[in-house]
Amino acid sequence: MLRLVRALGFAAPLAIVLLALVAMTVVPAAGRERFVFLSVAFLAAGAGITAMALAAWSYFAWRLNGIAAALEATLLADAPVTLRERGVSAERRLARAFNAAAGAFLQVEASATHDRLTGVANRETLLTTLVMEIERATRHHKWLSLAFIDIDRFKPINDTYGHNSGDVVLRQIAALIGENIRASDLFGRYGGEEFMLILPETNPEDATVLAEKLRDAVQQHPLTIAGGQVVRLTISIGVAGEVGSQLQVDRLVDQADAAMYAAKSLGRNRTYQYRAVDDEAPVRRAPISAEGRAAATAIGRWASDTATEALASVLAPQPDHRGRPSDMIAALATGIALQMGLPKDEIERIRIASLLHDLGKLAVHSEILDKPTRLTDGEWQSIGEHPRIGQVILEQATSLRDAIPVVLHHHERFNGGGYPHGLKGPEIPIGARIVAVADAYHAMINKRPYSTARAHHDALDELRKYSGTQFDPEVVDLFCVMYADGVPADGLEEVNRLHERARGGLSRIGPRAFPSGHQNDHPHPDPVEDAPPMPRSRPTALRATEREPERSVRDAAG
Ligand code: GH3
Ligand code: MG
Ligand code: MG
Repeated sequence: MLRLVRALGFAAPLAIVLLALVAMTVVPAAGRERFVFLSVAFLAAGAGITAMALAAWSYFAWRLNGIAAALEATLLADAPVTLRERGVSAERRLARAFNAAAGAFLQVEASATHDRLTGVANRETLLTTLVMEIERATRHHKWLSLAFIDIDRFKPINDTYGHNSGDVVLRQIAALIGENIRASDLFGRYGGEEFMLILPETNPEDATVLAEKLRDAVQQHPLTIAGGQVVRLTISIGVAGEVGSQLQVDRLVDQADAAMYAAKSLGRNRTYQYRAVDDEAPVRRAPISAEGRAAATAIGRWASDTATEALASVLAPQPDHRGRPSDMIAALATGIALQMGLPKDEIERIRIASLLHDLGKLAVHSEILDKPTRLTDGEWQSIGEHPRIGQVILEQATSLRDAIPVVLHHHERFNGGGYPHGLKGPEIPIGARIVAVADAYHAMINKRPYSTARAHHDALDELRKYSGTQFDPEVVDLFCVMYADGVPADGLEEVNRLHERARGGLSRIGPRAFPSGHQNDHPHPDPVEDAPPMPRSRPTALRATEREPERSVRDAAG
């Protein structure tokens, strides 16, 4: 249509000039004056039509370009682009239709690319962007870093204040992090209470600095939940990054994830930067296999069931009013929970809690619980304590969780060459550094299918030899002094005695530590009171060619 108008506009003056020429040849001289007048009139009309056609064409072209630009902007920008409704009625209608279509488009796009709850990018967007950014970084040989951010101890927020409050907290933390990143970073929700941050053109060191800033922001910021209550939470962050062609999506994700778990295992509320994997390492440092995880879950469930049974068996001999676990209560509570459609985990929690809910009564005097007459205020006070006593008992009983860092890191090496996270020096929890030495010693002095048992002094020499590389030198020094002449018998009795002492039940380790006939008959020197001065000097440095004791490593892996 526009083209036709334009063509007509241009053709109009030509047609008029043509018409004038034809008229000139046919009209007689007398009528020339009239003819000139007519020609001018025609030409004026032609110029008017042309000008009008050109103006109309330019106007429509300008308006259509405006609509096209708005449409393009809608595709590119996140914010809605609205056209002003003006001009002739068809134009206003077009603008209205455009605005409605652009709004709908943005809504569809947002729900496909953003997380509903928090409004930040969703997992698909994150992964698509990550792939794109990795390609870009590879092409231009640039750094790229990735961070996994997980909220610490978030589950108790849901459990204590309800899921709505959990959601509110998730939203606030997402917003807080979003406000503290750079415009070039992409932040989104990877799943649950776990977020991902993509940092283009950033090396892992700089990414760690930024991550620390985010961690600090969350730590400092009070979060408001239902009823105006305020909670404070922390986050753990794992950072990994590589440059140019070394970048691979899966590996980067695995590394950042492993780093996040390292941050958790080191006590949470911290940032952990992934270390480059040693390709020679015999064990993968990345997350465990699916079968390994399934087996671990099954064993963990068994351990939890056993602990529940053990606690229930303590309560079992009690009369009902002193907290004997009731199968009926458990069955009723579980039934209701099931009927309400609660999640599986929640039902399991309710089942266990219904068996153990009166655990705290174990610590209330039986005379008070059994008293048939009216209770005094003080007695009511005692009875009223039983829920909180139950809480303390369970907190103590679940302290198995505290063993996690030691279990996880007992194969790290002091020089960072161990697994699963390649932690170095003081980053390795002290418990793990201690267990590593004791474990290696035990492996060396005992016979294995693939090696003979070593003598006590040989084993000490081996520990000294790898002090500073495999083992913490301070622990080795202490070990070599404490057990210079021999070690306690391999029996639980000694463990229990030391445990008792650690709890304050025994003031010092007595000579019973060395039953005669074992490594030696000398009384065991008390490390606190009788210990000789610690050697100050570190054992001689390792020669570069020396290999670490493979056997002891393998043993300890068992
Ligand atoms: P950790 O410090 O080890 O990370 O402990 P945690 O309690 O944060 O971690 P865990 O993985 O045990 O629990 C995560 C919880 O996050 C479990 C789940 O109920 C909760 N969660 C996941 N997604 C949502 C959500 O969309 N809303 C709410 N309210 N909770 C969620
Ligand atoms: Mg968490
Ligand atoms: Mg989590």
